[in-house]
Order: sequence, then C-alpha cells, then structure tokens
Amino acid sequence: MLNSPVTMVKGIGEEKAKDLQSLGIFTVKDLIEYFPYRYEDYRPKDISELKHDERATIEGIIQSEPVVRFFGRKKSKLSLKVLAGNVLFTAVFFNQHFLKTKLVIGSKVTLTGKWDQHRLTLTVNESKIGASVQKDVYEPVYSVGGKVTVKSLKKMIQTAIEQFGHGINEILPEYFLKKYKLLERKYSIYKLHYPKSFEDAKQARRRMVYEEFLLFQLKMQTLKKFHRENSGGTAIAYKDKMVNSFISKLPFPLTSAQQRVVDEILADVCSPIRMNRLLQGDVGSGKTVVAAISLYAVVTARFQGALMVPTEILAEQHYHSLNELLQPIGLTVELLTGSVKGKRRKELLKRLEEGEVDVLIGTHALIQDEVNFHRLGLVITDEQHRFGVEQRRTLRSKGQNPDVMFMTATPIPRTLAISTFGDMDVSTIDEMPAGRKPIQTYWARHEMLERVLTFVEKELEKGRQAYVICPLIEESEKLDVQNAIEVHTQLQQYFKGYNVGLMHGRLHSSEKDDVMQRFSNNEIQILVSTTVVEVGVNVPNATMMVIYDAERFGLSQLHQLRGRVGRGEAQSYCILLADPKSEVGKERMKIMTETNDGFDLSQRDLELRGPGDFFGQKQSGLPVFKIADMIHDYRALEVARNDAAQLVSSEYFWKDPEYRYLVIYLEEEGVLAGDKID
Ligand code: ADP
Ligand code: MG
Repeated sequence: MLNSPVTMVKGIGEEKAKDLQSLGIFTVKDLIEYFPYRYEDYRPKDISELKHDERATIEGIIQSEPVVRFFGRKKSKLSLKVLAGNVLFTAVFFNQHFLKTKLVIGSKVTLTGKWDQHRLTLTVNESKIGASVQKDVYEPVYSVGGKVTVKSLKKMIQTAIEQFGHGINEILPEYFLKKYKLLERKYSIYKLHYPKSFEDAKQARRRMVYEEFLLFQLKMQTLKKFHRENSGGTAIAYKDKMVNSFISKLPFPLTSAQQRVVDEILADVCSPIRMNRLLQGDVGSGKTVVAAISLYAVVTARFQGALMVPTEILAEQHYHSLNELLQPIGLTVELLTGSVKGKRRKELLKRLEEGEVDVLIGTHALIQDEVNFHRLGLVITDEQHRFGVEQRRTLRSKGQNPDVMFMTATPIPRTLAISTFGDMDVSTIDEMPAGRKPIQTYWARHEMLERVLTFVEKELEKGRQAYVICPLIEESEKLDVQNAIEVHTQLQQYFKGYNVGLMHGRLHSSEKDDVMQRFSNNEIQILVSTTVVEVGVNVPNATMMVIYDAERFGLSQLHQLRGRVGRGEAQSYCILLADPKSEVGKERMKIMTETNDGFDLSQRDLELRGPGDFFGQKQSGLPVFKIADMIHDYRALEVARNDAAQLVSSEYFWKDPEYRYLVIYLEEEGVLAGDKID
C-alpha cells in the first residue's frame, strides 16, 4: 500500500524513517513522489555552446603530459591540454595528482566541471577516462538535508518504486489525459526520477503539475461549494430604498466598479448563504465607502456590523470616516481599541450587547471574550492578511454566522488569489475615482537629498503637506525610532517656517491620535513617520511622499505608502530615496517609477520575490506544492481551476466511476465531511 509508512520499504528502519520526516516524507507515497527539483545535464557539449562559468561536460582527446604541482602538504594541481573538436583547452584537476598515470596522451576523456570562457579552462570535478558516456544522461538532483544524502535518498526511492511501483494508479480521468495529452501517472513518476531525455522529464512534470493543481483546486472548490450549501447564514432583509438613498446622498457618485462590488456584496447579504468574500482594490480605489454601504445595509435590517483593522491609528481613521458618513443618517458608530478602558469600556460593551451600537470599529480588541454583540450580521476585516486564520474564526463566531468580508489594499496577483483564496468569492474594485491624477514617482540617490528638500519646499509653499517616511524594521524598532527622531530634528531645522510632526510606534496612542489629528487639520505640514501610516490614512491635502531608504521596503509596501498621497485633485509626488546595491533593488525602484497600477506592480513583485515572500513570511498561509510552481505554471493553474470548478458543480462528478479516484482523494483530505468548512 502506498499509504503505508516508509518503514515498509526494505532497508528503511525507524532511524532512517525519522530522517526522512524532516523532508516531509512519511509514507511510501511521499517517498515515491519526492521529485527532483532539477536535473544535472551530463550530455557532452560543444565548446562553442558554452557560457562562461557554466557547469559543463566536454569530450576530448588528451594532447599533453599532465603537469602536477604540489602546494602545501596535501594540495595539488594537475593540468593538461585536451582537444575537443578543433578547440584546444586546458583541463585542471585539484588534489587528484594520482590521476597522472591514467591520463595518457591520445586517450579519450569525458570531463565535467566549471568552464572558464576567458582562459579556455575547465576545472574538472568529475572525469571518465577512456570510455565515452552514454548519450542523454540526466542526473536528478533532489533537495536533501539532515542525515539524508542524495545518494541514500536515490537508493530509497529506487527500492520503494521496485517494491510498490505497481500499485501506482491513474487517478485522472481518461478524458483529461487525452484532452491535454498528459502522460500516464505511473510512467510520469518513473520518468521524473529516471528521465532519458530532457523532454521526458518535461512531459512527466507537466502531467504531475496539472494533477497537483487539479487536486488542490478540487479541494478549494469543494470547500466553497459546501460552504455555500451548508453555511447556515442568515438572510438579512436589508432595506433597498434606504441603501439607495444613502448612496445617492454621498458627496460623489460611485464608480461603476464600486457599484458592481456593492451589488455583489448585497446579493450575499440578503441570501441565506453566509458570505465569505475577499474585497480587493488598489489604494485609493474607494473601499471605505463600499464598507460603509455594506455596514449600513445590515443595520437597516436591525443587525449590527463590525470592522476590524490591524492598528489603532487605522481604527481611529476608519472610525472618523465611517462616523462622518453614517452618523448623519442616524447610526451609532463606536470605537473599541486597547486604549478604551475602565468605565468607558464597560459601558460600551453593555450598549453593544443590548444592541444600542450599530457599528463597532476596532483592533484585535474586538475579538476578546468579553465582547458580545446583540445581533452581529456582518464582519469586515481590513488588510486581512495581517490577521491569522484563528483570529478570523474567532471574530466570525461572535455572531450567528455573520457574513464575512475581507478587504485588502494589497492587490493580490490573480495567480495567488486563486490559489490562496480559492475557497472565497472575490470582488475587485478595478477602477479609480474619476479625476485622479497619477502620482509622479521619482527615484533619487541619498546624495540628492538637498534637491529633494527644495522640491518639498515648493509644494509646501503652495499650501500642500508632505509625509516623510523612515523605515521601521521589526528587529530593531529602537534604532528605527531613533532614526525617525533624527530625521525629524533635521527637517525641523531645515523647514523653519513650518510645523514638522513626528509619529512612530513608541508613541502613546493618544499622542499618535493627536499628531494625526493635527496633520489632518493642516496644523502640521510635514509628518515624519515610520511605516505606521502605511495603511488607510487619508489626508487629501498631502501631495508629497518622501521615503528614506526606500530599498529597505518591498514593492507592495512602497505602493501602500505612496497611496497616502494622490487622494485629492492636485498633482501628487512620491520620491524614493534609495541607494540599492543589488540588481533586484534597482529593479524595484525602476518598477515604482514606471507603474501606478497596484495589480501590475504586485504581479511584478511576485515575480521578483517569489510567492513565499509575497505576504511576508509570518502570515504566508500559502499552499505548498510538491512540484508545481504558482508563478511559472500559472497557465496550468488557470486551466486546472476551471476544470475543477466544472467538475465540482456537475452531478456526474460525484457518481461516475470515471472520477472515483478524485472523489476518494477529496474524502481522504477530509473536505467531504464538512468539518473543515470555515
Ligand atoms: P481605499 O480605502 O480603497 O484606499 P478610500 O476609501 O480611503 O480608498 O478612498 C480614497 C479617497 O477617495 C477618499 O477620500 C474617498 O472619499 C474618495 N472616494 C471614494 N470613492 C470615490 C468616488 N466614487 N468618487 C470620488 N471620490 C471617491
Ligand atoms: Mg481604506
């Protein structure tokens, strides 16, 4: 049985099994499906094809006596001339002087090593003398660690295949194999471990990638289907007229993207299906008002709404803007953060429980045990990827299966969205409010600071305001705060006629609130801050964003920061002060100056950083694939997703024996039991 523990494989005892665990290998199946991540190519190449520093295999005829030089007691260098085709090159062997007698003029050698194009020299690390290697030789390379070596792993995989390989079943329906010209399963697995040609490995890989994506997507789509069918949500009969009247009284018409998204959300609200939706929109696309409309809708049906955000500053900002929108139409909006204490807190909680509060906004404080809602109908979390799954779950459990919506201003590239949030519905605001001028972004070296400050001054003279951002890196908050304080002092001296404020994470929340308020009222013209203003802050008169040490930020974060300006009608600017050392760093700065489009940018960020880094390590929550690569195999992911969606929604999928292996897989993954629905 493929599902047996690896100890069933001959030669694998308890100890080896333990070593294998560190590679994520527990069962025979895990071992057999532990695929190489690349192949070493041992085919002899023509010297004309080689690139400098490339690892290469060359065949040739020895032309000169080997010359050996010793240095130190154990070190030696052996060199000789070899003719390959019509090119004479030097082969160098380190610490292998014992080969001297074997390397005879006129004999044939096959040498593998590192090629130096400038010196026409191959530094050999593997050699075959006399015999010619077989054509098409590919060595699989596996990622190993701990006590497991490539050699021992290969041996174990081989034994496992010999012993259990016959039990590998085809699990994909015939129909798909034909449609996509996919290799059969057993054959693919075999070819991945023992390819005869590069094409072999490629075709085998293509098949396994499709399978992996299909299984993953089937899981996601099944979860989504069951969630929709069994979620036991509440049909919230909101008052259509009131909602429309509210929308018509807004100071601006909704963009058509906002209207579409509102419709999608409200359709979920009034249906008995519990909403599980991701709302994404670039910075400044107007998510807050969409949130306000949604919250208002549930309140018209006498439900309560909650909005949870990651920081106090953001909670306060949202509180102010939502209160401004909702209070005039008679809603009671309250703020609950860690700094609401004592009697005030007690009173607030009591009113919440009695249903006197319509909309509650807050930080993590919202999900504490003592917080009880009267009738919670809708929960919105902003910047959802900062909240762990557990916290989201707790918040949801606060009401009677409330609708849930996650808002994010980090546009998630489609490839990540469909893999990470495949079990959710996604609404996207893909349009900016009319009349916005694209922010002009410039990249300047730190030595140009003086000129940058002159530029800032010109904006201030027009009555505008500016942000100056200093990095905050978690590991040394103290140093970064110091840095911000220093910049603040410098700018105070430079901009004598203006008020320069300072904001960082070490300030008391009342101090932060005060600084923000004064910036908002234009009592402060320049706000020096760490990244605490990264999300959500909205001061339309600020048109200037200067980011120090911009190379220390990721693209998405820079884009978020930049999104603090460009919120009004005037032209806004973003200046990145950066002296990036790496090529990737330079590329980042360039991309920032080239595009204002968050989706475009996040796609490019993903390509630069790879999926693991995209959300930051801590809250990655990304699926791990054995062989597939979300970025490079993106097309396959799309295809598999569509196939999975079609299968799951069709009657025959669940009955037809053609699909039994796929259904068995879903059963084994526990997604049919409904216990993973969440
Ligand atoms: P986001 O949260 O998506 O970054 P906000 O909701 O903070 O964006 O909106 C950014 C700014 O745009 C706010 O000042 C808001 O009042 C304004 N805004 C939102 N929707 C529209 C619209 N349809 N037309 C004009 N301005 C809008
Ligand atoms: Mg916002």
